[in-house]
Order: sequence, then C-alpha cells, then structure tokens
Amino acid sequence: MHHEDLSTSRLDPQDWPAATALGSRMVADLVSYHRDVRDRPAWQPVPPEVRSTFTAPLPREGIGADATYDRFKDTILPYPTGNLHPRFWGWVMGNGTVTGAFAGFLANAMNCMTWAGDQASTYVEEQVLTWCQEIVGYPADATGLLVTGASMGTLVALASARARFAPEATTTGVASLGARPVLYASRETHLCVRKAWELLGLGSDTVRMIPVTDAFEIDVAALVDTIDADVAAGLRPAVVVGNAGTVNTGAIDPLAALADVSARYGMWFHVDGAIGAPARAVPSLAARFVGLERSDSVVFDFHKWLHVPYGVGCVMVRHPELQRAAFEKSSAYLSATTQGFLSSATVFGDLGLELSRDFRALKVWMTVIEHGWSAFARAMEDNCGHARLLADLVDAAPDLERLAPVSLNIVCFRYTTPHLDAPAHDALNQQLLIELQTRGIAVPSHTRVNGAFALRVAITNHRSRADDFRVLVREARRIGAELARDADRGDVAVA
Ligand SMILES: *Cc1c(COP(=O)(O)O)cnc(C)c1O
Repeated sequence: MHHEDLSTSRLDPQDWPAATALGSRMVADLVSYHRDVRDRPAWQPVPPEVRSTFTAPLPREGIGADATYDRFKDTILPYPTGNLHPRFWGWVMGNGTVTGAFAGFLANAMNCMTWAGDQASTYVEEQVLTWCQEIVGYPADATGLLVTGASMGTLVALASARARFAPEATTTGVASLGARPVLYASRETHLCVRKAWELLGLGSDTVRMIPVTDAFEIDVAALVDTIDADVAAGLRPAVVVGNAGTVNTGAIDPLAALADVSARYGMWFHVDGAIGAPARAVPSLAARFVGLERSDSVVFDFHKWLHVPYGVGCVMVRHPELQRAAFEKSSAYLSATTQGFLSSATVFGDLGLELSRDFRALKVWMTVIEHGWSAFARAMEDNCGHARLLADLVDAAPDLERLAPVSLNIVCFRYTTPHLDAPAHDALNQQLLIELQTRGIAVPSHTRVNGAFALRVAITNHRSRADDFRVLVREARRIGAELARDADRGDVAVA
C-alpha cells in the first residue's frame, strides 16, 4: 500500500490566519509582561495544584495551539524565576530585554543549525566573536565560541589549555601523564573550574584553593609559595585562574600580577570573567581589569550582566591551534567543501563540544546593535553606583552589618542584634531571607562570608532604581526586628 500525502504538513498550522492571530496575542502579552513587571511580586512559589499539572502522562492527542497557549498563561507564565523584577538581586542574573526576547523568537523561527555553513547565522556569530575580542582585549586571530554559559566555556578553555600542557592526554589518556598538572585558583573561585578540571580527567586533588586577602582577592604571595612547594614535590604547575568578579563578593583578582606569575612558571592563565569581564568597558573600572588582555583564555556571560536572554556565554582562546587541537576531529560526513553550503570558513563544531547549535548569536547581535555598547557600560556603572548606595544605607543602619567590601556590584550584609550568638544570627538571617522572598518584596540570595550567613545582593539589574534599595533596607530592618523579637521571646521561627 503506498502513502498518499496529506494536503498539509501534520505539524504546520491547519488554519494560518488563526496562527497569525495567536502570534499577535503572544507578542502583545510579552510586551505588557515586561512593561508591568514592577506591579507583580518579585517571586512567588508555584502552588501545589499548579505543580501537579506537570505530572501528566505523555499526551496521545493534541489540544491545539490556542489551548496550549492558554495553558502556558495559566500554569507557567505566572511562576518565573523572578529575574525580570527590579528587586531581584539573587545569585547573578540577567533581566532580559524585550528585543532579546523577540530575537530568541526570531532565531527559533529561522531554526538555523549553527555549526558551520554559508548561512547568515555563521556570519552573525563571527561578527559577535570579533566584538568579543574587543570586549576582552584579545588580538584578531584569537578564536572563540558562543556557548550556553561560562561553565561550558570553562570546559572549552581548560581543554584548550590541556592541549598545550598535556597534548598526549588526547591519545593515551591522562593516566599516561608523568608529573601531575596542577591548577591554582583562589578559594572564592566558581565551582565550574573544578568541575571542568575533573571532567578533563585531571583530578580535583590537583586543584589548589589559594587563600584570599581581606578584599577577597587571591593572595599572590601564598600562590607563589604553593607553586614553589608543588614544584619541589615534583608536580607540574599548569593553570592559574584569575577571577574578574567573584560570585560571592564581586572581587577582581590582581590580573596583571597573575599574568606575571603564569609567565614566570610557564602556566596557562585563564580568567573567569563570567560576571565581570564586560565591566572592562566601564571607564571608572577599566584599570582594575588590566592584565585580563594578557590571559590565554577567558569566559564571560552575555546572559548575566549584559541581559541577553539565557543561555549565551562566550569563551575566547588566544591560541587558535590549541582550541582546534582539543576539539577538531575529522569525519567524512562533516568535511568541508569548496563550494556550496559547507564552504564557509568557520566550523564552530571544531571549536567546542556542541555540534547541533542554536542561533544564539542572534540574541547578542540584536541586543548589542539596538542599544550600542556604551549603553551597557552605563547600565553597569549605574549598578555599581547602586551597590555603593546600598552599602551606605547598610552602614548607616545600626541593626545592619556589612560583611564584605563592595568591590563591584555585590553587597553582602546581615541583620544583627546584640542579644544573639553566632548560630542564632545565622538562623535569624536565614529566616529574614525567606521572608523577603516569600512576601514577594525582593530576592537577594545568600552566601557565607568568613563563616557568617549573609544576605547577598548582586546588582546587575537594569530595572532597579535607588528607591528599590531603600525598600530593601526598610523591609530588612522591619522584618529583622520582628524576627529578633520572636527569638527573644523564645518562640523561634528562626530554627
Ligand atoms: C555564573 C558564573 C559561572 C558559571 O556560568 P554559567 O553561565 O552559569 O555556566 C562561572 N563563574 C562565575 C564567576 C559565575 O558568576
């Protein structure tokens, strides 16, 4: 029996005008969702009855596009991360933009597979990567790649490094290495560095977590001592990592000094600039990033301080041949041709782990050309100004205590009261954080600074205004006092 074609695709709309109407409704909803974000709570939990709708079995029959969108509006759209909100300062998140959202939609509409090829998405990514060279101060022959985020970028960077300090690992495996290669990073370094090192087979027992100064920057003297001790013990210093904005406090390591140390010992110098590297563009901060341009590799995220919708980060590698050595494998089905689709120069699939890649470059390209790079510098400068404002407000409040210097855009503080010991302070501040979040007031995240539980306010938010920080301080003091009274009475919510 032979197959008769349907008159249309099974998966395309059956009613095209209805598809247009639905799309128009989505666009209108998206724009007002962004416009009115301030009127909604900063965050709200997903109610159990909504959550339970996500345990349905695989649907056999479809419900159609309109009903699907209605379901999205009822059960998904009201329960976001919260990071569009002007008082969301948790972790380090970008806030997105309307154009960024449209760009994601347009990229998906084209559905380009951006691995290689003579197609616009190739050239848009090449274009964005030349901008990235400028952003980090790398030469024009440095290679790079847009990745899903700095974690993936770190894996690409350290794999490129391994192609230099242990090229034999590619063929005979890490077990065949002689002296163990060692990685050095401050103890404030993001866990993605250790993760990548472990995945490369190099072992977390060769990750040295170097102490930091009072400013939470790597202690260079301690670094050098550790390296010398390892050399004396027959190990091989291989990689030093510098932070351009740590996740806890926003500290920037002394990058020029780290570049000197890595040159002295012949190590690879990698910079984790996930949060901070773009702030090189802020005139008042540029001096603090000197040395970044001397690194061998660097990662930074577009989806954090640059607000491109998740997930786009960038990795840049100064040595194209090493990035290729780590990732380029030949195969008959992927080999380039001189003409036709596969004649383009850049094969992104040869520069990283991902082969089937989305057109993530479009979100960056549209966001950057819409606003211009200086708009981002100004927005980052506003954030640093707001961090100083918040630090001043905290310092002026007798019942709030700032726990770390404000280096960039991150403020760590806690509520204090004379009667409580250290564990009770931690418990009270944990509860304070939960109250701020669940009452929908604001979303800081938390960390520990020198052992103490801290509310951590990471200000990358392009929608925050000065009054938002006054609200935070007022509410933190009010709720903190409520909790302190409860703790004094002994009916502790603070457990
Ligand atoms: C967020 C972050 C990372 C990891 O980046 P992802 O984009 O989440 O993969 C690495 N380092 C620092 C300092 C970060 O803030």
